[in-house]
Parts: sequence; structure tokens; C-alpha cells
Amino acid sequence: CGIVGFIGQEDAKEILLKGLEKLEYRGYDSAGIALQSAEGIAVFKEKGRIANLREIVDPAVEAHIGIGHTRWATHGVPSKANSHPHQSTSKRFTLVHNGVIENYELLKNAHLQGVTFLSETDTEIIVQLVEKYVNEGLAVEEAFRTTLTLLHGSYALAMLDSENEGTIYVAKNKSPLLVGAGDNFNVVASDAMAMLQVTNQFIELMDKEMVLVTDSSITIKNYAGEVVERAPYTAELDA
Ligand code: GLU
Repeated sequence: CGIVGFIGQEDAKEILLKGLEKLEYRGYDSAGIALQSAEGIAVFKEKGRIANLREIVDPAVEAHIGIGHTRWATHGVPSKANSHPHQSTSKRFTLVHNGVIENYELLKNAHLQGVTFLSETDTEIIVQLVEKYVNEGLAVEEAFRTTLTLLHGSYALAMLDSENEGTIYVAKNKSPLLVGAGDNFNVVASDAMAMLQVTNQFIELMDKEMVLVTDSSITIKNYAGEVVERAPYTAELDA
């Protein structure tokens, strides 16, 4: 299972699909991508191989921002509905997640009564919580951080906001996740190998850190909202 993300000027589709192919060795049962453009966010996901996903991705969608996921099911059978990305009820927020949210049932019962869920995953509660806090008046970054502080378990996350075409929201706890730095673009990946095709400059994330990734900036923060400075390292693997 793995995560990729791209934000820049080029066509995100092929970079994301290639990245997911590089993560195939980790094992997976489904794959999906979300592509964000001025027209909104388009989600493509399918059970099975990345080759199946390639077939359903609309070649006409042009996007410079996107996130991708290979799933190894832990909560809910391998199926299209349970594949990532998952979206909030209004479809404003779109999320991919690797890991396990141990307290998802508790959070669902405590905070999300009345919300209709479209999947059986533990993941879907995350994106619904972000939407709930935004509906209650929090700014997206605050809503994201508030949600993160409630989660118990392991996660590598990447989220898009359809009302903010310019930021990928990222967070990590006990699951691997890197941010890759480029010239006029930045990337997200579970493993540097997935993005060596475009950069070899990576920033390691520590547990309980979130990142705001734009095409020209990488802002790491802890859950208190304080900015954390960390320099990239040069990955020396073969692409
Ligand atoms: N727990 C999530 C699910 O079952 C994510 C699994 C993964 O790490 O791919 O959908």
C-alpha cells in the first residue's frame, strides 16, 4: 500500500500513475487517484491492478494537482466503494490514507451521528470529521489539525480541498511518508522510489506532523501549529 501526491505545472495524471506503479511491490488490492483542476476534483478508483485504473482514468482531464493511493484493505472488503480516495458528503474534501484508525468507531459514534457513509473503511471518518469542523466554522487547516488530534492509530494522509486549488494537506503518524521538493513543483510519497522520476530531494516527516504542500512551498507544522524547519536530503536510489 502507498500514497503519492503531485502539485506543480505539469500533467499530474501520468506522474501519479507511474508513482503508484513504483509502489506496487508493497502489495495492494485496489488503486485510485484524484485530480484537481479549475473544473473541480475528479476521482478514479478501481479494485485490482493499476493497469485497471489506467483504463478508467479520463485522458481528457487536465490537472496539475493530484493524489493517488494503493490500498491494502484492513477495514472493509476490497471493492470500488472501499477504494481510496474517499470524499466528504459535500465532496469538498478528498482523502487518501494508509494505515489503521483504531478508534474510528468511537469517533463515528461520538461526532458523526447522522452522516451517511459510502464505504466500510476506517478512513472515511477522517474526511467527514474535517468537513464537520469546517461546517462548524473552522478554517481548513484548523479543521484538519483538530481531526488529527482525535485520531488514534497509524496514518499517512493526503487531502485535497476543492475550494482551494493550490494546497495538498498531508499528515503522518507511524506510517511512512515523505515530501519531495522540486523546482516549481512538490510531491508526496510513501517511498522516495515513487517520485525519483521527478526529484531526488526529500524531506522526512516525523510522527504527528502535518504539512501544507503548495507548488512553491513545503510548510511542516506540529499539532500545536508551530512551524518545524527541516532540510531535504538527497535520495540515492536508482529510479
Ligand atoms: N485502513 C484503510 C482501509 O482499509 C487503509 C488501508 C491501507 O493502508 O491501504 O481502507
